[in-house]
Amino acid sequence: MITEVVAAHSRILGQDSQFPAYVYDLDALGEHARQIRSALSAPGAPEIFYAAKANPDPAFLQTVAPFVHGFEVASGGELEHVLAAVPGARIAFGGPGKTDAELRAALELRVERFHVESPHELKRLAALSRSIGGADVLLRVNLAGDRSGVALAMTGPFGMDPDLITACEGVLASAPWLRLRGIHAHLASGLDAAAMLRQGEEILAWARSWLAAAGVTDAEINLGGGMAVDYSAPDNVFDWQAYGEGVSKLAQAGETLRIEPGRAVAVYAGWYVTDVLDVKRAHGEWYAVLRGGTMQIRTPVTKNHNHPFTILPGSNTDGPSVEEQPVTFVGQLCTPKDVFARNVPVNRIGVGDVVAFSMSGAYAWNISHHDFLMHPKPGFHYLNRNASNQLR
Ligand SMILES: *Cc1c(COP(=O)(O)O)cnc(C)c1O
Repeated sequence: MITEVVAAHSRILGQDSQFPAYVYDLDALGEHARQIRSALSAPGAPEIFYAAKANPDPAFLQTVAPFVHGFEVASGGELEHVLAAVPGARIAFGGPGKTDAELRAALELRVERFHVESPHELKRLAALSRSIGGADVLLRVNLAGDRSGVALAMTGPFGMDPDLITACEGVLASAPWLRLRGIHAHLASGLDAAAMLRQGEEILAWARSWLAAAGVTDAEINLGGGMAVDYSAPDNVFDWQAYGEGVSKLAQAGETLRIEPGRAVAVYAGWYVTDVLDVKRAHGEWYAVLRGGTMQIRTPVTKNHNHPFTILPGSNTDGPSVEEQPVTFVGQLCTPKDVFARNVPVNRIGVGDVVAFSMSGAYAWNISHHDFLMHPKPGFHYLNRNASNQLR
């Protein structure tokens, strides 16, 4: 799965081996974000806050900005970074372990919503916001429901179980300058549209009853992110249309619903492109050694999967090659964990060929341990029809 512009650009980079490189198709990103927004445009559809941690590259933030309502940030660093890239953006500030310094900065920068993770955090927010007119709060709930089959269950330390949420009632009563707006939940990642809707119903049922008892009117309910992407079948894209229609049906008048997807927005717009340095056989298995490694794209290691790729044949046919064999793709790190994909059958691969790993637009470069072994950093290339028109 590679777009024509990315393939063409990769061939240009291949002429003098400007690898490894991240190639970002910003037109594809904008078009994808536009489609998501249009699938979520019926009455009752949720507002979209892009989760910046999936890919906070300023070009990504600016490309999705016209199609989202705001951004979800999970640290003081992301907060400053997003506001520098998209001045005036609406911000929801979540994440565990917020420090006083981060809360203070968020109050000064007029963050729109605080997603509060614990009664202690709520107390500190109350103290810090008292003299400046308070803060708008969503309590993050961690519901116990069955999360089997998900890619990642956000159980454990995240948010508050219903008992702990109850402990917030006293804090709120003693700090009337805190405005309780609603409930936030981000319970799992890797759910398809049907599973996401079932989880949404579960969140809404709990949140509505708790918020009604707490006397909150015009409630806001944030249903979280975690929309599935399928690395083993890149064309199997989350069904935003079905999800949008489903959420609109669940919505009740007077409520504001919100979601905060990251991966499913950004992942398809990035490629990690590099070339083959060596091909060899060891103990009966074939290996292609690529320039770079998983210190620059940690995704296949964290997800323990075969990262999807396209091979673009190179012009150099001097070096070793292999045909019609399963091949393991490794990088330049001195560790057996440096594997992009294991035992994947290929037609042919040889030294000088270019390998473009698709689905590298989210949780790829920005979660990687770049400095391990001190290889040169990848180049970054932003393909954007509008920008190139401006250059002409
Ligand atoms: C990471 C995160 C998201 C985004 O999750 P995706 O799987 O990238 O959609 C949303 N909300 C919270 C609270 C998160 O921690």
